[in-house]
Amino acid sequence: MSSRDDGVKTTLFVLITIGTSWFEQVKRLVLTDEFFKELNKKWDENKLDTELYQKRGGVFYYKKRILLSHDTPITRILITELHDSPWSGHSRYERTLQRLKKIVYWRGMKRAVRYNKECDICQRHKAENIHPAGLLQPLPIPNLVWEDISMDFTKRLPKS
Ligand SMILES: [Zn+2]
Repeated sequence: MSSRDDGVKTTLFVLITIGTSWFEQVKRLVLTDEFFKELNKKWDENKLDTELYQKRGGVFYYKKRILLSHDTPITRILITELHDSPWSGHSRYERTLQRLKKIVYWRGMKRAVRYNKECDICQRHKAENIHPAGLLQPLPIPNLVWEDISMDFTKRLPKS
């Protein structure tokens, strides 16, 4: 199997785990969003290039990818899921974009995916790489919890 197929599979897997809600949101978007109002009108008047645009099941496809309007919060949900999910493991900007591009399209998606660079966890990882000693700090919290538990046991012991 080629790595190209793997990429599509991973992307689909992540999108399925978000649930069907994002897809339902896309359908609602097509009915309500200004961008889609215009597109629906053109579609109904057969003014759209069907080589580029298709409409199936209440959703528009652009070059066989689900079309979104650029200002919908759905784009943010998709980027976050594809970048932050355990399967994606905070993939780099290019990787996240590659994955996303296989399934969805919106105008300005490149710019939107660049949000990676502002991701808190990615920033922290970068900082830790510069100061690896930070990772060797003792972990005081679990120790404290454990001490509390042992003290409880001691208290409960019957007096001899
Ligand atoms: Zn990240």
